[in-house]
Amino acid sequence: MPVETIKLTATFKVDGQIPESLFSTYNEILNNLIDYASIKNITSFKRLRMERYHELRMKYQNIPSHYIYTACQMACSIYKSFRKLKRRGLVRAEKPVFKKQTIMLDGHLFNLDLENWEATIATENGRVKLKLLHGTYHEKFKQMKPGQAWLLKKDDGFYLKVVFSRTVGIVEPDEKAMAVDINENNVVFGSEECISIVRTGERVIRTAYFLKRRRLQSRLRLNEKPLLAKYRDRERRRIEDIYHKVANEMIVVAKKTGTSVVVLEDLRNIRRKKRSRALNGRLNRWSFRRFQSIVEYKAKLAGMNVVYVDARGTSSLCPACGEKLSPNGHRLMRCQKCGLEGDRDAIAVLNLLQRYKMDVGASSVHPESPPMKRGGKTQC
Ligand SMILES: [Zn+2]
Repeated sequence: MPVETIKLTATFKVDGQIPESLFSTYNEILNNLIDYASIKNITSFKRLRMERYHELRMKYQNIPSHYIYTACQMACSIYKSFRKLKRRGLVRAEKPVFKKQTIMLDGHLFNLDLENWEATIATENGRVKLKLLHGTYHEKFKQMKPGQAWLLKKDDGFYLKVVFSRTVGIVEPDEKAMAVDINENNVVFGSEECISIVRTGERVIRTAYFLKRRRLQSRLRLNEKPLLAKYRDRERRRIEDIYHKVANEMIVVAKKTGTSVVVLEDLRNIRRKKRSRALNGRLNRWSFRRFQSIVEYKAKLAGMNVVYVDARGTSSLCPACGEKLSPNGHRLMRCQKCGLEGDRDAIAVLNLLQRYKMDVGASSVHPESPPMKRGGKTQC
């Protein structure tokens, strides 16, 4: 059975006596390294460490040495992404400056104990114990292996972000595929036998928060900046919650129907296309990629394959003959050439399945108007 490694990031709010100086010292070291990397044009971690470690070690003798290593790693990636933006003409500054209160940790600098929801981190004055404030969704990380981590200081306290990994066995892909079509306000998924639609209502939530923020911005006083961030956080959490619920529902159906492959849309080409400013803003706020990645890891944890197929034209071309479809009444689309008629939501799913099957050279799909269920729950 082929195996795959799944990586997931967990964020814990933490409680503990973290010395203030750890953040300021780390930031000093980091910006010193970023300066050096920018001047010498260094993007290799090994080279930066070789040229700078000794001097920094002498200057900052109290901080555990691995902090200098992780700062080298961070400096390289910060400089690398800055250089990329610079080349594309997207930044004006001459060199990057890191202002966030973020510390990167490696296996020597922190230790996790998820049985007791505790962690320790190395500091200038020995190891400090942290209490992890956890939620039920953190339970799944008990079966995973921790890798890199970051310690963050925000207005409302400290956070520990940890990347966990786990290997899972993935079944052999066959023709039992389930396609997922993500729209701004609903998600359509299923196979030739059964297609379901789940309302997410994402647009309504996004618009409400957008208007709320704009109202606030128009009469913004300095002390209201945290309020804006709070709204943004709340919006993100609400939408994330919906994503997880819908994805779970999909995986339940996929398991029940013996799905071996989940087919997702490769939307990269679509997003790059030029659109009007209003539409662009809306699409960017809408994080379909985030939703896809939630579906992807849940499918893989359940042992299924995940493939991405080109999404161009999936909602406007006939899944049977490839001709352009024309609208025929409210939500219906009709093919002038072969007479196929179907719901526009179902058409996209059928096209995605078709493309997946063409890619693997399996037997082609003959779409007929599939049974549709509106409003969520499926019983196929
Ligand atoms: Zn047709």
